Amino acid sequence: MKKTLLVAGGAGYIGSHTTKHLLQQGYDVVVLDNLVYGHQEAVLTEKFEKVDLKDKENLDKVFKKYNIDAVIHFAAYTYVGESVTSPSKYYWNNVVNTLNLLDTMRENDVKHIVFSSTCATYGNPKYMPLDEKHSQQPINPYGKTKFMMEQIMEDYENAYGFKYAALRYFNAAGADKDGQLGESHNPETHLIPLVLKTIKGERDNITVFGTDYDTPDGTCIRDYIHVEDLANAHRLALEKIISDNKTVKLNLGTGIGTSVKEIIDASERVTGKKVSVKYGERRAGDPSQLFAANDEAKRVLNWIPKYTKIEDIIETAWNWEINKKF
Ligand code: UDP
Repeated sequence: MKKTLLVAGGAGYIGSHTTKHLLQQGYDVVVLDNLVYGHQEAVLTEKFEKVDLKDKENLDKVFKKYNIDAVIHFAAYTYVGESVTSPSKYYWNNVVNTLNLLDTMRENDVKHIVFSSTCATYGNPKYMPLDEKHSQQPINPYGKTKFMMEQIMEDYENAYGFKYAALRYFNAAGADKDGQLGESHNPETHLIPLVLKTIKGERDNITVFGTDYDTPDGTCIRDYIHVEDLANAHRLALEKIISDNKTVKLNLGTGIGTSVKEIIDASERVTGKKVSVKYGERRAGDPSQLFAANDEAKRVLNWIPKYTKIEDIIETAWNWEINKKF
């Protein structure tokens, strides 16, 4: 019998795409979300509980009501800049409230969790591509909350027998190929949606943050990974930690670096329209290059990212941008 999974943060960007994928794979999926940043319209399962992770009593009721077998946890605040100005909000939500989730799991004898981590746990890169052995020294509160959770889960493994997948994402991008789901952040801070909104006429221009980096065209290089490839990796990671009863810590990226300028050029090619570009100062805390060594994820999960061309990723994002459902 297929398992019953709790997807915390299943109304958010990556959580909703993963929920869709899990349902397609025949899993019974319960979505839990406080809808602070998530969207009701993005919840694709009938089993939805509007519960905040700080509400341990109701969290426990959800575990008992559905007899949850395992958890995939996306529910977190993710704005790096805001985490610097409002660290309290980040430590309470991303750490303390997640402890409620782990303890509710423990009390209900649920021991498997797939956790959204981030390449931001590595801090300033010492070499490229980044592999999982790279030291973890996050440089902002957001990255620190994710690193703390990785450490806490390690302790929960040693003491209580938890097994977890810490999935360290690079830059999540793109949208559901059916056009049912996509990225809808408020405020939007990410490069690809901002470029596409500018092309659409919702914004006057896109500012390139820094043109004097030590990269071939002077702009920052990132590793953009399609959200459906992330969704698939979450399912594979869940199945792996359950079947082997073993913890995994994996980078999720394509291994391909794309510069800000290349994103702008590719967006113009995909949409057939020009974008108005401004050249600005560097954004504080941005490393010049970040891309993943993804051999471990490929080997351990038998995972193959399908979207390896940036145009294909942008095309799905553009389709969403012009036909948005929420
Ligand atoms: N970026 C930019 N202009 C913007 C937003 C982002 O030049 O308006 C750059 C940013 O400096 C980084 C890349 O685009 O090099 C990706 O940024 P994003 O915020 O999408 O993701 P991050 O890498 O910060 O997680």
